[in-house]
Amino acid sequence: MQQYFIEPLMKQGEIYTFTKEQAHHLRDVLRLNHETVRLVDPKHAWFAECYSEGKDFVALIKEEDPRINEPSIDITLAMALIRREKFELVLQKAAELGVKRIVPFESSRCVVRAKSEKSEKQKERYRSIVLSASEQCKRNVVPEVTDVVKFSELDRYRSEASLAAYENASVHSVKISERLNARSVTVVIGPEGGFSEDEVNELIEMGYEPVTLGSRILRAETAALYACSVIAEGAF
Ligand code: SAH
Repeated sequence: MQQYFIEPLMKQGEIYTFTKEQAHHLRDVLRLNHETVRLVDPKHAWFAECYSEGKDFVALIKEEDPRINEPSIDITLAMALIRREKFELVLQKAAELGVKRIVPFESSRCVVRAKSEKSEKQKERYRSIVLSASEQCKRNVVPEVTDVVKFSELDRYRSEASLAAYENASVHSVKISERLNARSVTVVIGPEGGFSEDEVNELIEMGYEPVTLGSRILRAETAALYACSVIAEGAF
């Protein structure tokens, strides 16, 4: 079943008119007509029947879908800027894993630097990645992707449990699974070059607790997906 996030708040029995892109995808690409689709407005999820109405493609809102396909824990992933295709993979998988907020950040050992002249276009691209991932996996919410923040701004994104995955933490350090009796969790993942000692100390001063992801050194994108999976696993 196709899902779309829609802007207007709908009511049962109302007609939603698809945007040009949505209509093209549904009518021309998928050739769906009088099929049921899932439409998610800011407050509800609806089952609706789509069909052509003159030159428009519309959907009759039939009944509410009570399923809330969101984890019971509010997950924030603070992700260091890494190579584009890897970063975009993390965005897509984090959206599927139920992350609520993704905070890209720059740190001293980032190989990739944020380019201000590209930031608007890049933000648009990031948003479309998490939007289509959220539609595909039938979420009720599209994750927020913030602007790229400076390392020192990470203290603004702490949660009830604020964890920093540190590759040099001893394997006897705290594991993520030991900190999940919280309603909200932030996990910080460093870049390909890892965190410097100073950065780890700065994170601790901000109130982040270093955690280990085990004895192997994972690539940044693996660490991000592993951390989000561990957090989401206990919070279906
Ligand atoms: N270049 C570094 C590794 C960086 S891995 C080195 O070779 O030592 C990128 C990020 O993934 C790290 O900053 C950390 O946030 C996370 N990470 C990878 N493996 C980890 C582990 N075993 N424990 C905790 N965090 C880990």
